[in-house]
Amino acid sequence: MPCLMRRIYAQPSKYIYAVKRIYWAIREDPVEYISKNKLFEPMIRGIEILKYALMGKANFGYCPICEKNTTFIVKAPWLRDNYLCTKCRSIPRVRHIMHVLQTQFPNLQKLSIHESSPSGPSFAKFRDEYKEYVPTYFWPDVAPGSFKNGYRCENLEDMTFPDASFDIVITQDVMEHVMHPTKAFSEIARTLKPGGAHVFTVPCCAPMPTFVRVRETDEGEIEGTSKNRYS
Ligand SMILES: [Zn+2]
Repeated sequence: MPCLMRRIYAQPSKYIYAVKRIYWAIREDPVEYISKNKLFEPMIRGIEILKYALMGKANFGYCPICEKNTTFIVKAPWLRDNYLCTKCRSIPRVRHIMHVLQTQFPNLQKLSIHESSPSGPSFAKFRDEYKEYVPTYFWPDVAPGSFKNGYRCENLEDMTFPDASFDIVITQDVMEHVMHPTKAFSEIARTLKPGGAHVFTVPCCAPMPTFVRVRETDEGEIEGTSKNRYS
């Protein structure tokens, strides 16, 4: 503390400015300031856990994204999107993908991995911790194999990767958006090394009917079938 006091005495204007800045930020939007300030993170998390625990909607468990024990909360009845790890905010789908990869591939961090259209906590983990991780996205207006915003564009139905490029290909809730899934599966098989694996999820809710949301016209155009959309 005396050390801090010496620093303040040496440059008082700098610290007065910092205090003023915090004061104005809190005054402008206290909720936003507290929610975005890392200092308050443990407190906010603790309050959230307590709130859901009191409702009987919290439990302890292991999160394969955080790779440690944590608390999970149920934010809404649709668990697929609302059963969250309170540390990394992951949903069950990404935790399951990571669990399968970690248990089936003990040398996972040394493998070459291609993921199409990644997002969320599993993407952050792969991007930050795995050297041989290649994320790609598909933009119709970008040439496959070229880059946009630092990310490679690839069409799963016709990829520019050479044969046998990857040990693992991941698609999370992607294949149901592909117009010709058999072509995409064939391309994924082509780009996998011998013994490689395609680990993927597709949403499947048994009581709900399947709708055709888009179709390809005779001219090769893609059109939406709005009458069949959920609303
Ligand atoms: Zn987590």
